[in-house]
Amino acid sequence: MKNVMEDIVAEKLDEVIGTLGCCTCEQCRSDIISYALNRLKPKYANTELGAALAKVDTLSHQFEVDVLTAIYDGAETVSKNPRHAKA
Ligand SMILES: [Zn+2]
Repeated sequence: MKNVMEDIVAEKLDEVIGTLGCCTCEQCRSDIISYALNRLKPKYANTELGAALAKVDTLSHQFEVDVLTAIYDGAETVSKNPRHAKA
């Protein structure tokens, strides 16, 4: 079983990370992804077809807004409490 949200959030984060004003190191990136995934409903798929179908209903505008909101909140939280010394 695979949570297809992991790929979706990681892709979205790559698109917007330059605009977030947060640290973009691997550590912070993965912390933001974990935070966002905890806020979003997981979508599990155990086949390639299942994963493709799960992605279809991620094309709605509302879904995109929810993912971006979770990413922005995650970036803010991680910037305030990075797991490493501030650069
Ligand atoms: Zn960092």
